[in-house]
Amino acid sequence: MAVRARRGRLNGLGFLEHGGLDRVQFVDLPEPVPGPGEVRVRIKAASFNHLDLFTLEGIPGVDISRPHVLGSDGAGVVDRLGPGSDAPTEGSRVLLNPGLWDGSCEACRKGEESLCRNYRILGEHTQGTATDLVVVPERNVHPIPERLTFEQASAAPLVFQTAWRALATVARLVPGESCAIIGAGGGVSTAAVQVARRLGARVVVATRSEEKAAQVRRQGGAEALVFGPEAPLERVLWGWSEKKGVDVIFDSVGQPTVGRSLLATARSGRIVVVGATAGPKVEIDLRTLFWRQASLRGSTMAGAAEFRAVLAELDRGTLRPVVDSIFPFQQGRDALARLADPRLFGKVVLTLP
Ligand SMILES: [Zn+2]
Repeated sequence: MAVRARRGRLNGLGFLEHGGLDRVQFVDLPEPVPGPGEVRVRIKAASFNHLDLFTLEGIPGVDISRPHVLGSDGAGVVDRLGPGSDAPTEGSRVLLNPGLWDGSCEACRKGEESLCRNYRILGEHTQGTATDLVVVPERNVHPIPERLTFEQASAAPLVFQTAWRALATVARLVPGESCAIIGAGGGVSTAAVQVARRLGARVVVATRSEEKAAQVRRQGGAEALVFGPEAPLERVLWGWSEKKGVDVIFDSVGQPTVGRSLLATARSGRIVVVGATAGPKVEIDLRTLFWRQASLRGSTMAGAAEFRAVLAELDRGTLRPVVDSIFPFQQGRDALARLADPRLFGKVVLTLP
């Protein structure tokens, strides 16, 4: 059903029909009311992820109501508390954890919320953050570290929790190990560099672009290597590791790189995959996998304790959100288009009026 919204009430950025960026439009959402244990937040800044483009396109198996509002990341002020909620004070500055779990299944009871059998992501399975008012469970609302603006705070939650769980928990990256991040410039890649560095690793970013490599070096915290047809990924990483192989490889590119990443792993090396922005099907050489006793693991989002760990690092300033660009709400479609811009370096943020 098409929604004809009156001028001035187009309070969300999203879509009515799945498709490309041309489907992105302003939509009219009714005012959400916080239920028991929920909090309503007035959003000041939201940020986008590649996930938003996949949600816009339509993810097989994910059925959502429309109009749908995009955005998994948000920061703002507490606007209203639902019955029985009292933790955050009304008017206080908060950021949202976009991971939604039921709190009752076996995984949740073990503190492994991202393995929840009913795990969902704000903005993918539910209405997102690119709107004025968002209702979430009380446990998804956290005070914004003082040093961060709303824009910076909105840039942190999804990418830092993803990088933290993948590198600290799943890959068990420890001080002194080597870590390669495949792909430069995306929000999760810029977050992974900082997390790997924070965990004490020697970090390299492998990219196809000379310009991105220069940006990585300017940003600091990591070396940068350029790969391509003349210099295959496995060869540049092998050289960088002084022919020992890389201990942990963080790959969110997928199809063109995972098989090659495996060829560059050290003995007992770990590849951790958090996404597949360039395609989901890969071919790997199992002989390399068993002979080096390497492992290939997947990781997505993070649990509540991991999210708190990230917040503590943000508070200390040991992790710092990298903001590529800030767009006003009215230019929401341009903000989403920026995600596919080869010049992207960091997170794309939307400010709300
Ligand atoms: Zn659960």
